Amino acid sequence: MTSVMASVFKTVVMDWPPPKYHEQTPNLPFLAGMIAIHLIVAFAIFRFINNGFYNLTASAATMGSVWALGGFGIAFYYHRMLTHEGFKSWFWLRCLLGACASLLNQGKPAWWAALHFAHHSYSDREGDPHTPNNGFLWAHCITYIFKYEDPYFEARLKKYREDPAVRWQEKYYIIFATMPFTIPPTVGFFLGGWPLAIEMTLASVVGLAAGLHLTWSINSWDHIGKLPPFIRWLEKTPVINFFIGQKTREITPGDRSRNNKFLSTFTFGKGNHEDHHADPQAAYHSGNWDINKWVVLALERLGIIWDVKHPKPTSTKN
Ligand SMILES: [Zn+2]
Ligand SMILES: [Zn+2]
Repeated sequence: MTSVMASVFKTVVMDWPPPKYHEQTPNLPFLAGMIAIHLIVAFAIFRFINNGFYNLTASAATMGSVWALGGFGIAFYYHRMLTHEGFKSWFWLRCLLGACASLLNQGKPAWWAALHFAHHSYSDREGDPHTPNNGFLWAHCITYIFKYEDPYFEARLKKYREDPAVRWQEKYYIIFATMPFTIPPTVGFFLGGWPLAIEMTLASVVGLAAGLHLTWSINSWDHIGKLPPFIRWLEKTPVINFFIGQKTREITPGDRSRNNKFLSTFTFGKGNHEDHHADPQAAYHSGNWDINKWVVLALERLGIIWDVKHPKPTSTKN
């Protein structure tokens, strides 16, 4: 735990007992939205299998754009910049990146950051909002349907909302969060009429769901901890190692985070999760499989971001 994290942990977290997240109020509109998204994905897969694609290029581009723009916004801005303050940049760039992150419908920036900060404060202990200790599905997605109302959480929300860019993003969140449902049908209709409008909308929702599950996998799949001893040899098999990663050290008591190359590749570096728990403020990790690393280094060189927290050499094991 960095000294900054340690001091926040001491002054903010230790003032409150670990929150009991299972007793929080469910966020029913969010739950309804998530159910609707998954029903649309099921329909889209059924339709693509049976009817094929009207325009495969347009559908693939739509799906890839929603996942890539949203996933990069979440990893680069919500996670590294807002939650962990790994670097700084201009107001307008923070607004733009927050708008990208909103495409994945993972919640408003202050809420996302406060929830993730709670995860770091209590990693895999009582008070962690999403640990597989409470069940794999709880960590993966059920955790997100609760509101998290407690004094600690409110204090973190207030802190993040001191940033005018965060207040701006919260004000216009609904516009950006609904773009995966408004832009693809509009563009599709003008390019190819109703058939392309429907297909691009379905592709967009599939891209959105892929982005959601990849982020959620960091909390579930990337927190499975050590494998049982009799199958631990699997970690050394290159192909399997790519998908399940490895656990090399316990960062805090009970911590289950792992490094996972597959997740790191498709979540813009977030899958290097054991390295991240070892050095949370680092803007990237120095090992491979962190696409975010090259973006951070390039933008720092160009002067677009600054005050970059480079990783401690000892934090990287991937
Ligand atoms: Zn974690
Ligand atoms: Zn983090």
